[in-house]
Amino acid sequence: MPADYHMHTPLCRHATGEPIEYAKHAVAIGLDEIGFSDHSPMRQDNFDNWRMNQVQLDEYVEKVRKAQKDFPQLTIRLALEVDYLPGHEDWIRELAARHPWDYFIGSVHYVSGSWAIDDPQKLSEWKHRDSFEVWTIYFERLTMAAESKLFEIIGHADLPKKFGHRPTRDPASAGSSGAAGCTPLYERFLAAAKKSGCAIELNTAGLRKDCREIYPSREILQLAFQKGVPITFGSDAHAPAEVGMNFAEAVRLARDVGYQECCQFAKRKCRLIKL
Ligand SMILES: [Zn+2]
Ligand SMILES: [Zn+2]
Repeated sequence: MPADYHMHTPLCRHATGEPIEYAKHAVAIGLDEIGFSDHSPMRQDNFDNWRMNQVQLDEYVEKVRKAQKDFPQLTIRLALEVDYLPGHEDWIRELAARHPWDYFIGSVHYVSGSWAIDDPQKLSEWKHRDSFEVWTIYFERLTMAAESKLFEIIGHADLPKKFGHRPTRDPASAGSSGAAGCTPLYERFLAAAKKSGCAIELNTAGLRKDCREIYPSREILQLAFQKGVPITFGSDAHAPAEVGMNFAEAVRLARDVGYQECCQFAKRKCRLIKL
């Protein structure tokens, strides 16, 4: 099984279990490598209620180091899931300089200064928005994240589907299927990822959400393979039992669209390994 590169810690205030418990579960299910990628702090503390504050960053690193020490048989990478918002680039560079990270996952959750599209507490916001417009803004930001060269991996590439909001559009302007209107958005994002040497993750958390589907969709993954965009795998575990969850299905999907390799990262350098 490939490395699980996306897991959280209680420091983000919505995950349970210490890194040593995630590591224990990883060993129990036969993984050789995992990576912690908790939600990064923002320059402004308490930006929202689902991430650590700046002062906790060292504590986070300590927790991961302890797991590394306690589980020498398991390779444990030190990483962050970093929110990409336009204008935050300098802050992300500062974060990068603070510790010897193995990789950064760049994720777009915010499509404005205050609305994170995956936040269950802000679910009603979707009622006031046109889905296609949200998908458009989201993918524009994702493309900027890929172009920024700040990240090794782009997280959950089609997150707006989480609660089942699909980008419907007037069929007359979007072809027979509303979703077809999004293909140019996917193409632009994946071209940027390819150009920057950025990987995308197969994130199995989507299977546990209303959308009941791995992030990204088969359509996006097929386009990614055609363009030569490399991949990683992540459970987005917020509890120890979620480590490596549904990886067999994710590997099947990746192989199905043609992938034979995936990426491993150490000190922000990629190594391709057989899938
Ligand atoms: Zn989270
Ligand atoms: Zn995320």
